[in-house]
Amino acid sequence: MFQKILIANRGEIALRILRCCRELGIKTVAVHSTADRDLKHVRLADETVCIGPAPATGSYLNMAAIISAAEVTEADAIHPGYGFMSENADFAESVEKSGFVFIGPRSETIRLMGGKTTAKAEMIAAGVPCVPGSDGILPDDEAKCRETAAKVGYPVLIKAAAGGGGRGMHVVRREEDLIHSIQLARNEALQAFKDGSVFLEKYLEVPRHIEIQVLADEHGNAVYLGERDCSMQRRNQKVVEEALAPHITQAQREEIGKLCTDACRRIGYRGAGTMEFLYDNGRFYFIEMNTRIQVEHPVTEMVTGIDLIRQQIMVAAGEPLPFRQEDIQLRGHAIECRINAEDPFKFIPSPGEVKKYHAPGGPGIRMDSHVYAGYRVPPNYDSMIGKLIAYGPTRESAIARMRTALAEMIVEGIHTNIPLQRKILEDEVFVRGEHHIHYLGERIPEWAAEQ
Ligand code: ADP
Repeated sequence: MFQKILIANRGEIALRILRCCRELGIKTVAVHSTADRDLKHVRLADETVCIGPAPATGSYLNMAAIISAAEVTEADAIHPGYGFMSENADFAESVEKSGFVFIGPRSETIRLMGGKTTAKAEMIAAGVPCVPGSDGILPDDEAKCRETAAKVGYPVLIKAAAGGGGRGMHVVRREEDLIHSIQLARNEALQAFKDGSVFLEKYLEVPRHIEIQVLADEHGNAVYLGERDCSMQRRNQKVVEEALAPHITQAQREEIGKLCTDACRRIGYRGAGTMEFLYDNGRFYFIEMNTRIQVEHPVTEMVTGIDLIRQQIMVAAGEPLPFRQEDIQLRGHAIECRINAEDPFKFIPSPGEVKKYHAPGGPGIRMDSHVYAGYRVPPNYDSMIGKLIAYGPTRESAIARMRTALAEMIVEGIHTNIPLQRKILEDEVFVRGEHHIHYLGERIPEWAAEQ
């Protein structure tokens, strides 16, 4: 087992990883930017290394600085968390070549599944259903693009092959807009990902976002841990997530879960991963794989009783998974609300000092946050300051607990989206589990007008 792990991340996930390391008796190294000296996990870590200035490009995205921090502190392994370097195959490769263990899949797997078109091709080969679309990236030839779009049928969605965070996507409803949209998407993709390749997919009008959590080891074992519904989104960013997904039957779960684990074995997957699907008219369509831990992993932990970070570490250390598919029991229901430092209805980021902080509690309530009274939320990073998770034996009880927790939670000094989360938890369509990925975007103007 590892003696020391370097945590190449910040905020709540860095704290989550640190807590897990402590439970396992593994020493921790926190690397941080100059803006993050006061992060909770930095204060709790065994060792700390300042790796650069506040802008992430000089610190959390600075490969050389992270790897030298691992060298100086003699860490055995690097946990990348989510975001930042977590899906950067070049980083994973440098980590491996420098003699450290990257806590995640092999760099080749990240490269293969990180490209959306290569991932899709791999999944099609594994028999996993995908959204109909272009056969790989779109060529420069305009006539060919038109032909592909016509064959798929409008509306279509142009997506960046190297995409992430919902960027570089364009919906095209009419043929006359196709070429222009492709050009826009290419430019955006080039800017954001230094790779202008785009592809095309059928645009599904009102799908749900349902994703399958998988876990695989180096010994050919792979399991699925049920699904999460992340349909409550704003501008392709998840706001509320839950496990399991409402109205999905056990037969559907088993069918899609088996396809996902078969695909894992086929590509020699190692570690935790998520296969994301759109669910439309009773059918699943694969959109992408995330080869890392996800923000919303706690809801799966609550319904399975499995610590996903612990399993990531064990598997990275070469241990076999301690359970088989038949050992996994899905019990109860869990909901996660992302708590962001932002205006709840205008979405303007709200960094600054947290003057008062009171986290909710009680049965089934879990708060994953690095925030404390007196903590200053820096303006340089993502606005998420924590995740509130509610578990109950049924979906109704999880909703009731979440409502109680949201009513109790106090964050003063900065704006947060807690008022928006309260609205969502009271919403009838959400309560019935009938929302789709555009639902929140449609409701927000109404709620904003009531303010
Ligand atoms: P990213 O990696 O940028 O997050 P994804 O492929 O995961 O991109 O898509 C992000 C979101 O965009 C999805 O959760 C969904 O809401 C929407 N989306 C993606 N593909 C489609 C599609 N074919 N039709 C409709 N919506 C889509």
